[in-house]
Amino acid sequence: MAEALALARRLAETHTLDDAGLLALLAGCGPETAAFLRDAAAATARAAFGRKVYLRGLIEFTNYCRCDCRYCGIRRSNTRAVRYRLTPEQILACCRLGYGLGFRTFVLQGGEDGWWNDDRLCRLVAAVKAACPGCAVTLSVGERSRESYARLRAAGADRYLLRHETADPDHYALLHPPEQRLERRMQCLRDLQDLGYQVGAGMMIGSPGQTDECLAADLRFLRDFRPHMVGIGPFLSHPDTPFRHAPDGSAERTLVLLSIVRLLLPQALLPSTTALGTALPDGREQGILHGANVVMPNLTPPAERAHYLLYHDKLSTGAESAAGLDELRRRLAAIGYEADIENRGDSPLKL
Ligand code: SAM
Repeated sequence: MAEALALARRLAETHTLDDAGLLALLAGCGPETAAFLRDAAAATARAAFGRKVYLRGLIEFTNYCRCDCRYCGIRRSNTRAVRYRLTPEQILACCRLGYGLGFRTFVLQGGEDGWWNDDRLCRLVAAVKAACPGCAVTLSVGERSRESYARLRAAGADRYLLRHETADPDHYALLHPPEQRLERRMQCLRDLQDLGYQVGAGMMIGSPGQTDECLAADLRFLRDFRPHMVGIGPFLSHPDTPFRHAPDGSAERTLVLLSIVRLLLPQALLPSTTALGTALPDGREQGILHGANVVMPNLTPPAERAHYLLYHDKLSTGAESAAGLDELRRRLAAIGYEADIENRGDSPLKL
């Protein structure tokens, strides 16, 4: 315990820890250390971003997926999933609506859907950039070839979210079918960074088989790879997946990891995720109070949003209406923060 607190103090002062220190911090982190990490992480985020929280408009534009990740509700083997794919016109309408509300970043996320080939996706990215001058486009559509990433970048994509999911090869093999490989995921992340994207990695907390050693490997990877963004949320089970009986990941542990990552990467963009908001009634606010600085309100039309079910009881409140956005503003103001919607919120991190 005392050792963990000493390590947390060292992390807050130096913004790094060696491999053994990361593991010892994770293994020994009790309530006192967690509270220290929370306060230090929130202070570090405030030093980098003030009391402003960047908002990104999230559009979940397809739930067709060729992958079979064992934890995910939209995996290809889930025949009970109701599949949908927004048309380019529908996606543009979501962006225009968001732009009118003030959003200057759109996150286009979806399963690995073959219909969205490079030509179609490039046309979409270019159309969003043309329709919404000055906006940033973030893509999150999984693993593609380096050539595909290069074309999308040339079409105007600014950022790419691709969680590494776990940096431990054995754990990766437990969470995914054999055809999905950690080396490939990591190569994609390196390609994206190399091509000049602002890159987001990240992992679920409490996924089946995850140990402190796995999390230490994640932290080591994040410390050394230095992504611009890190998405961290609790694992939440989905009833139509092989992990249907697995317990949900702990929201408290997720908050500890958020704080550690904030201290390791003071300038990273850290979303307070939908999964955290699902796990705790005030999860989004707690995320901000533990070092996060981004919230991604949902702009997906409500009818389709209801089918983007990655896990049970997924939070489905949106900001497609001014009322939804006002509510979010109020909730942030209640904890002393301000929604910074009109800021593109580029990463201050240099590659
Ligand atoms: N297909 C893209 C990809 O692989 O990056 C983006 C969509 S994918 C559904 C987005 C993220 O959802 C994944 O990176 C994963 O971490 C998260 N996710 C999937 N199933 C989850 C679950 N059961 N609990 C929590 N998060 C989950």
